[in-house]
Amino acid sequence: MKNDTPQQLLATAAQDECQTPVPITVAHGDGIGPEIMEATLKVLRAAGARIAPEVIEVGEKVYLGGHSSGIAPSSWDSLRRTRVLLKGPITTPSGGGYKSLNVTIRKTLGLYANVRPCISYSPFVATQHPGLDIVIVRENEEDLYAGIEHRQTDEVVQCLKLISRPGCERIVRYAFEYARTNGRRKVTCMTKDNIMKMTDGLFHEVFDEVSREYPDITAEHMIIDIGAARVATRPELFDVIVTPNLYGDILSDIVAEMTGSVGLAGSANIGERAAMFEAIHGSAPDIAGKGVANPSGLLLAAVMMLVHIGQPDVAARIHNAWLSTLEDGVFTADLASRASSSRVPLPFGSMDFADAVIERLGRLPQTLAAVSYPDIDPAAAPGRADAAQKPAPVVAPALAKTLLGVDVFLHEHDRSAQNLAERLLSVSTGPLKLQLITNRGVKVWPNGFDETSCTDHWRCRYMTGEEQSLPGRRDVVALLAALTEAGFDVIKTENLFDFAGQRGFSLGQGQ
Ligand code: NAD
Repeated sequence: MKNDTPQQLLATAAQDECQTPVPITVAHGDGIGPEIMEATLKVLRAAGARIAPEVIEVGEKVYLGGHSSGIAPSSWDSLRRTRVLLKGPITTPSGGGYKSLNVTIRKTLGLYANVRPCISYSPFVATQHPGLDIVIVRENEEDLYAGIEHRQTDEVVQCLKLISRPGCERIVRYAFEYARTNGRRKVTCMTKDNIMKMTDGLFHEVFDEVSREYPDITAEHMIIDIGAARVATRPELFDVIVTPNLYGDILSDIVAEMTGSVGLAGSANIGERAAMFEAIHGSAPDIAGKGVANPSGLLLAAVMMLVHIGQPDVAARIHNAWLSTLEDGVFTADLASRASSSRVPLPFGSMDFADAVIERLGRLPQTLAAVSYPDIDPAAAPGRADAAQKPAPVVAPALAKTLLGVDVFLHEHDRSAQNLAERLLSVSTGPLKLQLITNRGVKVWPNGFDETSCTDHWRCRYMTGEEQSLPGRRDVVALLAALTEAGFDVIKTENLFDFAGQRGFSLGQGQ
């Protein structure tokens, strides 16, 4: 979204009215969900959105009705047919093994990109950052959100951080395409690759590769800690930010709040074959049923949906009416106290607010920048029902892979690395020899420090000496058998590979 002339805006608003309605799936959700969804749909209808909603039930009732995923199997039929979901917030019941429905939908439908535009509405909504206008593109399927966690010892649990080359390529390319389509000039990648050299390092590497295909867009990389600090203090330096899942989750809430309220932002979850649109806030049970909730987040998500389904004219009409509504000081209760005028305005209820937006349809904001949206070429629009079949991301070529050794993880109560090493060295382990022991990644043998505090979780690296021949898989099996026979509690192993001359594992800290 970027500024456009009023003439262009009015020209787009006059576009063809007689297209066939696009089927979309609508889920009202829990808490304030039904209230803000009704308000949103009322505005969409009044603005002439060409949509044919199919309503499904998701959330608390479905969870408590026995579907621990929060969605009934029959509802998937609608989703797979329409491939577009407008969703109200849902309450995840505590305990009981209920899974987050958001994560289920994102992963099941392959919604790899979470797109969250965050803009300040100064001087109408108070914010310390009047120039803030950032779009966060968060990777949505990988990273620590793969949800693969294990308890390994009495003291240690682990969560696997999975980053794939096709996953990086897809999200980075999406960010650059988004920037190009929406007139944005810069994409900033944020990772922590000074520490996670392989996982975040891959994300950064792919960012550098893909950025070379977009010479018209400035590309930069920042370490996430200083990058996030700069976003919080000088947001005007940023345009589009692309980042792995966890950093994006945290950063996008911070940036949304910096605009004045999390209640103002909508988000899109985009995949190759489907898309989901929702407000970023939750079901707000504290105000549910009172008719006071702010429908703006869901309304702006619906605006993104309209752009996605090829109705940029209606999207711009609603968005500009909404901006005019803010300019006129029409606020729901959450924003009334943050209005920048000296007089605190009387708050509007959800439906009255929707009516106020409807009254302003056709108007352009006077102070805030009016918006227009590009008509996206369906062939270049991931997730759109009429999108051309997109080429799958390039699959990494199979490289020559050589086994060099194995990391054996042990659960041991004795906290002496020296004792452990001596006991391990007394076991006959074939060509694989003990090279190194680490505890929580820090080398503790040989030549460990007494100061290093140790848990009951030990990583023991076995390799053959360089002068000896390479190990085979059977040598690893024989090693595990020997250690188990000797009474060691093996909790897991990681094979150590070389990929076409490149080491495929990290060194121990201090190694
Ligand atoms: P929340 O976002 O629901 O509420 C936080 C605060 O913001 C509350 O004071 C609430 O009244 C206020 N608020 C939120 N949206 C508002 C709106 N549109 N208008 C006015 N005020 C609004 O966060 P929470 O209380 O932590 O979570 C409540 C439930 O929502 C939980 O079950 C959580 O799991 C769920 N949740 C769902 C989603 C989703 O479906 N996408 C996202 C976040 C949380």
